[in-house]
Amino acid sequence: MKGITVLGSTGSIGISTLDVIARHPDRYRVEALTANSDVEGILSQCARFRPKVAVMADEEAGRRLAKRLSDKGIPTEVLCGLRGLETAAAMPGADYVMAAIVGAAGLLPALSAVRAGKRVLLANKEALVVAGRVFMQEAREHGAVVLPIDSEHNAVFQCLPAGDAGDLEARGVKRILLTASGGPFRTTPLEALKSVTPSQACAHPNWEMGRKISVDSATMMNKGLEVIEAHWLFHAAPERIQVVLHPQSVIHSMVEYIDGSVLAQLGNPDMRTPIAHALAWPDRIESGVDSLDLFQVAQLDFEAPDSQRFPCLGLAFEAIKAGGTAPAILNAANEIAVAAFLDEKIRFTDIAAVVDETLQQLPVSRAESLDGLLKIDTEARGIAEQLIMRRV
Ligand code: NAD
Ligand code: MG
Repeated sequence: MKGITVLGSTGSIGISTLDVIARHPDRYRVEALTANSDVEGILSQCARFRPKVAVMADEEAGRRLAKRLSDKGIPTEVLCGLRGLETAAAMPGADYVMAAIVGAAGLLPALSAVRAGKRVLLANKEALVVAGRVFMQEAREHGAVVLPIDSEHNAVFQCLPAGDAGDLEARGVKRILLTASGGPFRTTPLEALKSVTPSQACAHPNWEMGRKISVDSATMMNKGLEVIEAHWLFHAAPERIQVVLHPQSVIHSMVEYIDGSVLAQLGNPDMRTPIAHALAWPDRIESGVDSLDLFQVAQLDFEAPDSQRFPCLGLAFEAIKAGGTAPAILNAANEIAVAAFLDEKIRFTDIAAVVDETLQQLPVSRAESLDGLLKIDTEARGIAEQLIMRRV
């Protein structure tokens, strides 16, 4: 029986995780759940899964949750704020920690799980984008096992030879092929992109996800963040990572070997597959996902990404090649720009412009300590906010 903490339990990944856990009450129990401010969402999860601890990042929401839990006679203890999130991630009863908070806000809680030597099921790609070197180094030092939940990285993990992640070259790997659907605007006329709305951007053709990652998929910044994520997870130089547009989202990614073999992982686009894979690894368990019907899929298409349509992808490749603080700056500016777009303060096409200008304004440095990176994250957010103010 494994105890599980779900960081970000009220989100898209959090809900899918609890769905898989609920199918295996003999294997898993919930140790702790966390959310930002969704009291009613986490309350019903507490009623169902009876965790020891529930955390609200927002203190006021935490007080409301405590009252609602005690009214209902549910004995879950409530903690608040970053300290509470870090505590939930490191609880002795949590064997596995699902890191599914969105954005850089998920970094410190995920790092807390790493430092406690947990099996960390990592959905929160931004943690690696901001602080990949520190994160992976701490995982090695503390014996934490980091398993990728992002569907592409989970697919790559499944296609790599078993055993310790070492040098890719020594393992005969030539390239990692990350697939991307191209999002809702793959074929939208370029001149129409500046007037697309948040709800159009969030209407992903194949996946149902949180709003931030949905916008990232529409700009393809998501794939850019995933290139950086793959770099840290698999020790892959950016030159060894190729992005392949594949609109059906049936192949979740591929690994090419020096002998010409290309291994792919396929399945219906449903995050419960990678979640179940990482929960049970190296075993396999049922996830609730339907069998892939290849006759219905009928056809698999592949295209090269269009750099004019998706400038964010190029910006991310440049950031990882520049190294140092560049990916943290890219991520921070993107989070601010996406939030402004969702608030209808800037246009869709302004997202890439804000990220680009923030990167130009902040010189890249080698400061790669956690504190240095968090400082740069704050600074980049400030610059991006100013750039946005000038646009509205
Ligand atoms: P979501 O917006 O649906 O959920 C986010 C969760 O994080 C919620 O529980 C929310 O309460 C919590 N949260 C938000 N801000 C917080 C803060 N400041 N402090 C503490 N908690 C906070 O997001 P999602 O789509 O589930 O994505 C979660 C992560 O997983 C992201 O990093 C995303 O890139 C990654 N991911 C998601 C999918 C997907 O299919 N949804 C696929 C691959 C990777
Ligand atoms: Mg992905």
